[in-house]
Amino acid sequence: MESVVRRLLEEYLKVYIAYSRNRKIRFYSTSGGVATALLKYLLEGGHVDVAIVPKPNFRGGLVYGVWTIIRNPNEVSKYSGSLYTTTFGFSRVINHALSRFRRIAVTTLPCHTRAIKRLLQPRGSDRDVFIIGLYCNNAPSMWAARYALRYFNIQVGDVEWVKFREHGWPGYTTIKTKRGVLRIPYPTFWGSGFGQYFYGLGCYLCNGQTNPLTDVSLADPWTLLHEPIKRLGGATLVVVRTRRGLEVFEDAVKAGCIEAIEVHPVYAVQDATLLKLSRRVLGRRFNEFNEYVLPPSFTTIAYEMLYRVGHFLASREGLWSLLRLYHRVARPLVLKVASVLDHRLQTRWAKVYAYIKLLQRARVPREIYSLAHLELNKSS
Ligand SMILES: Cc1cc2nc3c(=O)[nH]c(=O)nc-3n(C[C@H](O)[C@H](O)[C@H](O)COP(=O)(O)OP(=O)(O)OC[C@H]3O[C@@H](n4cnc5c(N)ncnc54)[C@H](O)[C@@H]3O)c2cc1C
Ligand code: SF4
Repeated sequence: MESVVRRLLEEYLKVYIAYSRNRKIRFYSTSGGVATALLKYLLEGGHVDVAIVPKPNFRGGLVYGVWTIIRNPNEVSKYSGSLYTTTFGFSRVINHALSRFRRIAVTTLPCHTRAIKRLLQPRGSDRDVFIIGLYCNNAPSMWAARYALRYFNIQVGDVEWVKFREHGWPGYTTIKTKRGVLRIPYPTFWGSGFGQYFYGLGCYLCNGQTNPLTDVSLADPWTLLHEPIKRLGGATLVVVRTRRGLEVFEDAVKAGCIEAIEVHPVYAVQDATLLKLSRRVLGRRFNEFNEYVLPPSFTTIAYEMLYRVGHFLASREGLWSLLRLYHRVARPLVLKVASVLDHRLQTRWAKVYAYIKLLQRARVPREIYSLAHLELNKSS
């Protein structure tokens, strides 16, 4: 079992469920505010000179990020929350930071991690850059937010800013318009088609979802029981990858910035992990990450087909009403049929999927209940 999980996750030392002990940080972050807490801890303690994160920008319903450098630990919380969109200027900011500062912390998606590793290769050491990686299923394009705003009948011209994740877990997407503030449950916003069709071919082929080359990789705790995590106000699943990652994480826990309990690594395997590690059949071409480790199945081919057609519709604004219909009617139907076929015919993919689900159900970490209980007592 250990070997199956290791094959799916690659290098790791320990896996935790954790959260920032600062309730405000937790409330305004994506899952448990661990990225924010770690960046703050590293800057405050002088362990790094600067942190590099993407800054959100808004124009005409388009949302995008521009990478920026921060030195002041009090500024870190301003950037909390996931930016589910394209970001610009990564290589420029990293090169600049490497030439000016000795020690850097950076939050990355798996493709950024690869880029940093490539940049650092000629130096022969990556000790100066602490990488806080995020899991990544895909990064929707700038246009995805515009589509979703229309989907929810929001006047695009009225929008002042959008924050994709905040307000507890799994939280809400907050949209500030000239008329007021709107909050849409995050799963509804992501599931509107926003997260399904607007990403490019690079994301379609990418299989680095768990961000293996980092010091720590962070994810939503989708695979754990949701109720106690909601009660906690959110938590982040933390995969510690390196010795240095373990030292920093444990020190942040000792310093009282983070609360953490160790959980079985099988919880770090998500449905998206299995999908992203499955061989593509509709357009294989290059793949810069490691090889796909799972065979295709009816489910994975269905996802590919749905993406291919949906992406075509998403790339033409005039076809967005058709995309809505396609998303609401065709998608659930196709996925249902594919899942039934996989399970009836017992494909290898279905067996691995069932095995992982079984292990996750069999090993429910009861400590989360006591943590949730503790938090509830603290706040009452
Ligand atoms: C595009 C994208 C796809 C994701 N896909 C998955 C997934 O499939 N499964 C899953 O479990 N989790 C996924 N995540 C990770 C998840 O959304 C959270 O980032 C993670 O749970 C950490 O939460 P946190 O509360 O500890 O982070 P927070 O405390 O909220 O801090 C997040 C930090 O990451 C930085 N950041 C935000 N967006 C980006 C970005 N695009 N690139 C680099 N840095 C960024 C912020 O500036 C902030 O410093 C994804 C994140 C992104 C951005
Ligand atoms: S899916 Fe892969 S290529 Fe796309 S943004 Fe995420 S890490 Fe980058």
